[in-house]
Amino acid sequence: MLFNTLATALVASGAALFASASPIESRQTLATVFTSCTVANRVALTFDDGPYNYLNDIVNTLDANGAKGTFFFNGNNWRCIYDSDIRPRVKYAYDHGHQVASHTWAHKDLTTLSWDQKALSRITGAYPAWVRPPYGNYNNLVRQAAATRGLSIANWDFDSGDSSGATPQQSKNNYDARINQHPSTILTLNHETQSGTAYDVLPYAIQRLKAAGYQLVTVAECLGRAPYQSVAAPGTPDSSWTC
Ligand SMILES: [Zn+2]
Repeated sequence: MLFNTLATALVASGAALFASASPIESRQTLATVFTSCTVANRVALTFDDGPYNYLNDIVNTLDANGAKGTFFFNGNNWRCIYDSDIRPRVKYAYDHGHQVASHTWAHKDLTTLSWDQKALSRITGAYPAWVRPPYGNYNNLVRQAAATRGLSIANWDFDSGDSSGATPQQSKNNYDARINQHPSTILTLNHETQSGTAYDVLPYAIQRLKAAGYQLVTVAECLGRAPYQSVAAPGTPDSSWTC
C-alpha cells in the first residue's frame, strides 16, 4: 500500500517533469543503471553484503596481487558497520585504495528506502557515488530514490554463484568458463561473507584473470567514472555511531 502510494506520487511528479523539464533534468531523476564495464580489458571484482569478518583478508589478497576491489557495504546486515572490530576494516579497505559503495542499510528490498551512505562517509570520509540494490532489484522508484542521493546503480554481468549455492569449485569453474570466452570486460558479483570466496575462489580468480591479461580495477575505474561524490576527513566516533 505504501509502495502504491509512493509509486503514484512518483508517476505524478514524473508526469509533471515530463511536461516541463529539459531532457537533462529528466535523466537526472532516474539513476543510471550499469551492468557492464565500459573500459576495455578491465575487470571489476566486487564483494557484496559486508562488512564482515573476512574483509581484511580479502583486501590483503587483492593488495598482494596489485588488484583493486569494490565493496558494496550494508550498514547492518551480517554485522553492524559501527562495531568496534568492523569499523576499522571498512577504513582499512578504503585506505588501501579499494572502492567503498552502498548496498543499503539493512539489505531489505529497496522500496523500503533506508541507506548506509552516512555511515560510510563517517567512517571513511568518502561519500559514495555508487549503490548496488539488494538482489540487484530495481524499478523506477528505486532509480528515483538513488538519483535523489546522487547515486548511480552498479549491477553485474558475471555471478560467481557464491550466494546461490555454488561450491567454491563451481564458482572457480564459472570464472574459467567466462574467462575462456575472452570478453572485453567483466563486472563480477561475489560475496564478502562467504569464506570459500575469500580464501579459495578469489586467489584462483585473480591468478586466472591476470594470466588472461586483464587489469583488476574498481567499479568506478572499469566505468571511467568517479567513485565518490565527495571526499573529506573521516569523522570521530561517538555514541550516535550505532546500529
Ligand atoms: Zn546483497
